[in-house]
Amino acid sequence: MLKTIAAFERIGEENAFAVLARANALAAQGRDIINLGIGQPDFRTPDHVVEAAVKALRDGHHGYTPAVGIAPLREAVAADLYRRHAVTVSPDEVMILPGGKPAMFMCILMFGEPGAEILYPDPGFPIYRSMIDFTGARAVPVPICEENAFSFSAEETLALITPRTRLLILNSPANPTGGVTPRREVEKLVAGLERFPDVAILSDEIYDNMIYDGEAHVCLLAYPAIRDRLILLNGWSKTYAMTGWRLGYAVWPGKLYDYARKLAVNLHSCVNAAAQYGGLAALSGPQDAACHMVAEFDRRRRVVVEGLNRLPGISCATPKGAFYAFPNITRTGWTAKALASALLDEAGVAIIGGPDFGVLGEGYVRVSYANSTQNIATALTRMEEFLTTRKAA
Ligand code: PLP
Repeated sequence: MLKTIAAFERIGEENAFAVLARANALAAQGRDIINLGIGQPDFRTPDHVVEAAVKALRDGHHGYTPAVGIAPLREAVAADLYRRHAVTVSPDEVMILPGGKPAMFMCILMFGEPGAEILYPDPGFPIYRSMIDFTGARAVPVPICEENAFSFSAEETLALITPRTRLLILNSPANPTGGVTPRREVEKLVAGLERFPDVAILSDEIYDNMIYDGEAHVCLLAYPAIRDRLILLNGWSKTYAMTGWRLGYAVWPGKLYDYARKLAVNLHSCVNAAAQYGGLAALSGPQDAACHMVAEFDRRRRVVVEGLNRLPGISCATPKGAFYAFPNITRTGWTAKALASALLDEAGVAIIGGPDFGVLGEGYVRVSYANSTQNIATALTRMEEFLTTRKAA
């Protein structure tokens, strides 16, 4: 009998991938499925980015690169952070990684162990909880509530810190709620964190370019009081429609950089060289494709929110960021996962149940509007038909 270690019984996953597989399997059987489940832009990577990667291969960039990424790309990340958020980082603090996810993997591994506590957003990106459980640390949920416009409350978060707290995970704009933390809440939190100098912060800002209604993104690197214990996660997946390229980065403080570099050497050696040249073109080239994508998401956001609010039993707050709506479905009488599953099987619409993002996600579903307006409209019509004719299971 194969013996496994307990940590592997605790590790979780992302149900969005399972829903995607199920939606694709139904589509392969000839069913007409509209996928509002997956969190990836439906746009193509901008042409100049693809061309730069092809050119890199033609130019002979076939070999290993430095484990931390090529220098021009690390410099471009530093310049981009300055251009967009007026924060100064040294390229030597920037590490190129195969996606944004490896930054959370590495960071949670660094801080998690039995006896430690890690605070994470609930509902939130499921890998935070999964990795915390994997390390044996105690996962302490920070409630993200509709009443608070899907932001954390600084006061509530600070009250959860104990002498065992090692790491606090933040995510704004947020998956799955589309919530954006207001500057005043960030500032209250940062001021409070000065009382807890041993608590590190992982700020997942992967949706920082997708923000609407004149809200400004608050980059946590802007706060010197926490800079020496702040890890920033970001990447190209969402901003430049590059999810499949596997390209992201982290900014690490102090000695964590070298720990992360060693993990990279042990794990992946370096990121695919051509992808790094593509990423360089994305940051240093024209931004019109990225801007167009945000404008289009903004338009669809209005369509989706308006449409969801017309459905019986559903109310949907207007999300301020990312490309997700997180409607409240409690008045439909359905539980979230049963509704998501029945909608896929019976109406051909894939969405994700809120509990896939944490226990506080019950009563909500995540609707991704990374799909065409036409498909969104058809999905809303199907949902309306379903909810008016089908009794809750
Ligand atoms: N962080 C959040 C909040 C996400 O939603 C995602 C992807 O869905 C990631 C990180 C991971 O991004 P990547 O595909 O670059 O690994």
